[in-house]
Amino acid sequence: MVEGRCHCGKVRIELDTAPEEVKSCNCSICRRNGTLWAYYSPKQVRITEAAPTHTYQWGDRDLTLHRCSDCGCVTHWRAVDPTYDRMGVSARLLAPEVLAAARVIQFDGASMGTPTF
Ligand SMILES: [Zn+2]
Repeated sequence: MVEGRCHCGKVRIELDTAPEEVKSCNCSICRRNGTLWAYYSPKQVRITEAAPTHTYQWGDRDLTLHRCSDCGCVTHWRAVDPTYDRMGVSARLLAPEVLAAARVIQFDGASMGTPTF
């Protein structure tokens, strides 16, 4: 099991396994936030929020991006469609040695129009 948290600790993330790879995406939002995404089935992720996160949707509005309402760290995204078996976790919130062990994949989300993560 692997744990991560936002800077202030109000949002905590628990993962069944450490990510083997993370994606660096150059789409309009990822390049601004500087996130590195690890992908999981929502069944493999537990997120606890001491305060409701701020959420953001754009474009096709098929994803909801979450950030801590206090410290502002991007924490994760979820698909609006509850049957979609994939979500993204900001690997930046994990321990530095966990992130360092993951391979970084460059992903050209910008060329794909609407981000698909
Ligand atoms: Zn926070």
